[in-house]
Parts: sequence; C-alpha cells; structure tokens
Amino acid sequence: MDLTLSPQETAFRDELRAWLEENNPGPEPSGDDAAFEFRREWQRKLHAAGYAGLSWPREYGGRGATLIEQAIFNEEMARARAPMTANVLGLVMGGPVVIAHGTDEQKRRWLEPILSADEIWCQGFSEPESGSDLASLKTKAVKSNGEWIVTGQKVWTTFAHEAKWCMLLARTDTDAPKHRGLTYFILDMEQEGVQVRPLRQITGEAEFNELFFEEARIPDENVIGQPGDGWKVAITTLMHERAGLAFGSAISVKIALGELIELAKERGVADDPLIRQRIGQLYIEAETLRLNAYRGLTHQMKHGIPGPEGSLPKWQWSDINQALTELAMEIRGEEAPLADSHWTYRFLRARANSIEGGTTEILKNIIAERVLGLPRMR
Ligand SMILES: Cc1cc2nc3c(=O)[nH]c(=O)nc-3n(C[C@H](O)[C@H](O)[C@H](O)COP(=O)(O)OP(=O)(O)OC[C@H]3O[C@@H](n4cnc5c(N)ncnc54)[C@H](O)[C@@H]3O)c2cc1C
Repeated sequence: MDLTLSPQETAFRDELRAWLEENNPGPEPSGDDAAFEFRREWQRKLHAAGYAGLSWPREYGGRGATLIEQAIFNEEMARARAPMTANVLGLVMGGPVVIAHGTDEQKRRWLEPILSADEIWCQGFSEPESGSDLASLKTKAVKSNGEWIVTGQKVWTTFAHEAKWCMLLARTDTDAPKHRGLTYFILDMEQEGVQVRPLRQITGEAEFNELFFEEARIPDENVIGQPGDGWKVAITTLMHERAGLAFGSAISVKIALGELIELAKERGVADDPLIRQRIGQLYIEAETLRLNAYRGLTHQMKHGIPGPEGSLPKWQWSDINQALTELAMEIRGEEAPLADSHWTYRFLRARANSIEGGTTEILKNIIAERVLGLPRMR
C-alpha cells in the first residue's frame, strides 16, 4: 500500500482538521448520564457536518467516502482528542453489518437513525457460559406465528441501558452443529420481555449490563441474513469491531506516550536509562501498531470486508496501553493508588483491553491459524 496521501486525501484531512479545531467540544462532563447526552450531541454535530458514517453509501445518509478517508477521520478524531460518539457500536458494527448483509428495507429502516444517534445500538453476543467459545451460546429463539420468541441471558452488554436495538445472536436450531444453529437478529430493547441490569466496573462506571430475555419478541423481518447463517454475520461484526479500533487506537497511544514523557520529565525520571528504554520500546510498538492498521485496511480495500489481520492491532493496542499505563503508575510512585488522576482511571480501564472485543489469547489463536496458516488447535 502507498502510504502517501493523494491531493484529495490531504484536502479532506485539512478541511476536517480545521472543522475539528472550530467544533471540538472538549472533555466530557463527569457522570454516566451527562457524559452520554454530551456524546449524543457531539455525534449529532458530526452527522450534520457530514462526518458520521463516512464510508457508508450516500443513499443511506453516509458520505460515500473511501476507506482511506475513514481511516484519516479516525486518526484526526484521536489526534484532536475529540470525545467519543454516543452510538459507537452502531457506527462501528451495527451499520457495517446491515450494509453487508441487510436487505434494502433493513438499510432504509436502520442506518440513518444510527448516524443521527436517535437510536442507540448494543451487541448481545456474550453469555455467562459463552464468551471466547461464543458458538456454544444458549439463548434460544423459537419461531411462532411469523415472529421469534427469545429466552435466555446475555452479559457484558455495553450501552444496553441506552440502546433501542440489540444485535442479538441466538440459537434457532438445537440439532444443528453449534456454528450452524445460530441466527442474527436485531431486537427491539423497548419491550416487556427485555430486562437490563447494570454492572459496575473497577473504574466506577456502569458502561455495561446483564440482559435477560423472557419471551421477548422479534418480527421475522428483523433477521439479518438467513436463519442458521448467524455465525457468518457475527464474524463480520467482530471483524468490523477490531478493524474499527485500529486507526484511532494507533494515534491515541502516541498521544498517551507524549503525556507519559511529560510525566517522566515532571517527576525527574526522564534521564533514567531503564525508563527511557521502556518508553523507546513502547514507541516502536506504537509505530508497528500503526503500520499493522494499514495492513488491515489494505485487506479491506481488496476484499470489501476486514480480514483476520484486524486481530493484530487489537492485540498490540491492548498490550501497549496496559504497559504504558503501568509505567505511568510506577513513575507516579506512592501517589499511584490515588483515584484523583486520569492516569489511575486509564490504568484501571486498560485492564479490560485484553478482554473486550476478543481476549488476547483468542486473537493470538486467530492470527496463528488464519493469518499464519499454522495447524488448528482443535
Ligand atoms: C469492557 C468490556 C466490554 C464488553 N462489551 C461487550 C458487548 O458489548 N457485547 C458482548 O457480547 N460482549 C461484550 N464483552 C464481553 C467480551 O467479549 C468477553 O468478555 C470476551 O469475549 C471473553 O469472554 P469471557 O469473559 O466469557 O471469558 P472466557 O471465554 O471464559 O475466557 C477466560 C480466559 O480463558 C482464556 N481462553 C478461553 N478460551 C481459550 C482458548 N481456546 N485458548 C486460549 N485461551 C482461552 C481467555 O483468553 C481468558 O483469559 C465485553 C467485555 C468487556 C471487558
């Protein structure tokens, strides 16, 4: 891949940079509800300016931009330290999955309200007994009179408490082999059969939830793809999740490294050879993360969907972010356990990086088997 930007790409980047300078609302307010409303307003502003769903088709409210422009957008958002959008899961996974596997009617129904943040999405995949081995999931959907009736439980469902729609993976054929008996649904969260219970994290936030389904209903037209094809659709979702992270995360770790260097200077340890060596190593790793993000993009440009290479930046990002925040805590010394610093928050939040979106061990298996072609474990 040629890493030089074309004149059009440079113009796009400059225009976006100028827009961000004018419009970036700055840091989020504290408190889960206030932060959510702030992110929703921010996403609406981005959408009004044509900066939501960049690579989505124009007819569904996107900008029809190239994947390179989408990558530039993610980099610039991170560089400007712009806040998160409210509908991250809809933008990164829900929309791309509907675009890849949905009918025209489904695209017309769901895509625009994702962009405007009028309808928030969540991802109901993991269950108490099924995380890494996702295909073993037990939540069941049974067809009856033209609709599906869902019973079961999901867990770790990020933003379920704000969501209108849930990307739900459920078992619809208990006799088929485990990967073949699954169907991918879009479930309306606003109904009696759905209960959402918040889970509080080590950071104090309650970003994610448990979800309980007691005869929740899904109309047949909310199946994505065909019944029994859920695994294929789920894999598209997960690959978009990992690829979507890559560019923004490459820039955010570079910014965090700059802050770490400032911290080392402030605390008078910037001349310590061991600290310098660790920061240098992190810088090298951050650079390979950026180049691997381009590797994933090259695959997506050739094949239309992200490939298994997307697992590599996700693994690298979690390693780097954890090592970086651990080093910051060491440099802060006896102040490290105080909860009054953004470093403490980052250190605690980084613990989840090697679990969310697929654990590092699972990503290594994917890279071994599907990128390097090594023999399968099972
Ligand atoms: C912040 C956060 C947000 C999340 N948001 C969502 C969400 O919105 N929707 C959703 O559906 N899920 C979500 N998850 C769940 C996440 O996808 C799962 O936690 C993850 O897939 C791991 O599953 P598990 O927790 O059941 O762990 P397990 O699968 O039980 O794994 C336990 C340990 O065993 C290891 N392991 C398991 N199998 C293997 C193997 N074959 N080879 C080697 N090691 C193995 C794992 O790497 C891990 O260290 C979120 C998780 C976090 C932390």
